[in-house]
Amino acid sequence: MTIRPLVIIPDSKLRLISEPVKEITSEIRQLADDMLETMYDAPGVGLAAIQIGIPVRMVTMDVSKSEDERQPMVLINPEILWTSEEKRIYEEGCLSIPEYYEEVERPDRVRFRYMDLQGETVEQDADGLLATCVQHEIDHLNGVLFIDYLSKLKRDRVMTKFKKAARREAGA
Ligand SMILES: [Zn+2]
Repeated sequence: MTIRPLVIIPDSKLRLISEPVKEITSEIRQLADDMLETMYDAPGVGLAAIQIGIPVRMVTMDVSKSEDERQPMVLINPEILWTSEEKRIYEEGCLSIPEYYEEVERPDRVRFRYMDLQGETVEQDADGLLATCVQHEIDHLNGVLFIDYLSKLKRDRVMTKFKKAARREAGA
């Protein structure tokens, strides 16, 4: 397992639409391992493959928030099947937008479908943090970031901050 470097805004890779996984190969299993390792190291509760620069429809998550009882999930080609009318506000962050947190309103409950690493199709209902997380991560596969749900003013402010930081790094 390898910890891979994270892709940070304003990197345009984060706006790519990721491609479906066609077959679960050894490369895909390796990618899942690396994504989990990178996610736990960060640490974060979710990671999409594009966040380490690979535009395929894969997500890793662990919302257990416990070091002792890890509950890693690997979602291949995940999709949202249903969302509740009721909304919920949760303070979100993103490994591609370090140290920035803001409240986002999303459907409170979702039903989603994905393929696991054994190639089995799984359908699952989620609420709470898992519901928020799965929506946030599937957004990444479609080039959407949580800051897209904020006001233009807030989004511009955070983009400007990270553009400046990227320029500083490039100039250093
Ligand atoms: Zn994210």
